[in-house]
Amino acid sequence: MTTTKPVHFPLNAFPVVNNCLQVGGQPLTRLAERVGKTPFFAYDRALLTSRVQHLRENLPPEIHLHYAMKANPMPAIVQHMASLVDGLDVASAGEMQIALDTPTSPANISFAGPGKTESELASAIAAGIVINLESEREMESAARIGLSLGYQPKVAVRVNPDFELKSSGMKMGGGPKQFGVDAELVPGMLKRIGELPLEFIGFHIFGGSQNLKAESIMEAQEKTLALAIRLAREAPGPVRLLNIGGGFGIPYFPGEQPLDIAMIGGNLTRQLPDVKRTLPDAQLVIELGRYLVGEAGIYVCRIIDRKISRGQIFLVTDGGLHHHLAASGNFGQVIRKNYPVAIGNKMHAAKLETVSVVGPLCTPLDVLADRMEMAEADVGDLVVVFQSGAYGRTASPSAFLSHPNAAEVLA
Ligand SMILES: *Cc1c(COP(=O)(O)O)cnc(C)c1O
Repeated sequence: MTTTKPVHFPLNAFPVVNNCLQVGGQPLTRLAERVGKTPFFAYDRALLTSRVQHLRENLPPEIHLHYAMKANPMPAIVQHMASLVDGLDVASAGEMQIALDTPTSPANISFAGPGKTESELASAIAAGIVINLESEREMESAARIGLSLGYQPKVAVRVNPDFELKSSGMKMGGGPKQFGVDAELVPGMLKRIGELPLEFIGFHIFGGSQNLKAESIMEAQEKTLALAIRLAREAPGPVRLLNIGGGFGIPYFPGEQPLDIAMIGGNLTRQLPDVKRTLPDAQLVIELGRYLVGEAGIYVCRIIDRKISRGQIFLVTDGGLHHHLAASGNFGQVIRKNYPVAIGNKMHAAKLETVSVVGPLCTPLDVLADRMEMAEADVGDLVVVFQSGAYGRTASPSAFLSHPNAAEVLA
């Protein structure tokens, strides 16, 4: 019996010239000089653009694409994404301010997330963005605040569906959840919305995140559309917005394969006639964070020390879990697995060796690569962690151990 060790899916979005990774058309070493310090996150503008194009080519043209900003709220990225997609989804007042600084129409910005405060609701209502209601309390508050401000709030109901998005890295719908309103309680809420001074816009149904199985996503989308069609019968007005979530994943770990977007697009095309017939006013929206930006970004840190401990080589860098918690394996992973990691200025190695890449924090959790094979490297070389455009800098405990924060650059 032969067992082959699973390997990382080959990543060749960033070209290599003279042994050096190219980001935004320039050598990583030069970009590092321009940024002026390490560590930093670098995002490639052209890759962001081509990712959206790839989706547009594979999804039916009727589907609108929204960028879910929490994946990466860097203002320059949000501006760029705003020029490519049809709307933005925000999950806090901070993200809302960044979204409102883009040319996106407030009608195409929606605000989801449990526990919206009165002041967040008031800002959203004044801005004229769509509030995805996650509870009856939010519904009653929105109506009251709208009356006192003199603006009618635009609301959609976020539904906690009565099914799960199977094989998701993170489940955010189905069963008991803090997100949205349980599907069985939605009809009662829709009746109440009709009595309140609220403008009913539609539904938001989001099942989960980081899914690489097209079949699971297709099944969830079919169930989502059926649920929306069922709930629409109880709605106080026509459904004009139907946000069916997303959850499209990207391959991070050995053995994982990219998601088959063409299959998902084909299945949506087959569903569309039914939706158009039953919900003729509904704009269908897919909201994506990770899938849009995750592969366009890398995390870059510099080797500060090279140590050998009882035969094992450690490359100690100036970056670590305080900037990139997910790559250290401490952001929702059960068994730690390596992200794709390479030596950015030695992409075609003359000699390979097995090393562990660690950060400067005084904790054994601060590991960026555990016994991985990569180019023989030394102090001063640049370590690159791929698949780092989403849930990197802002999803990490940057204050832990009081090292400087990571820089960011959109190249
Ligand atoms: C987090 C989140 C997203 C983005 O999820 P990705 O997996 O990054 O695509 C979209 N919608 C909602 C409501 C979210 O909470």
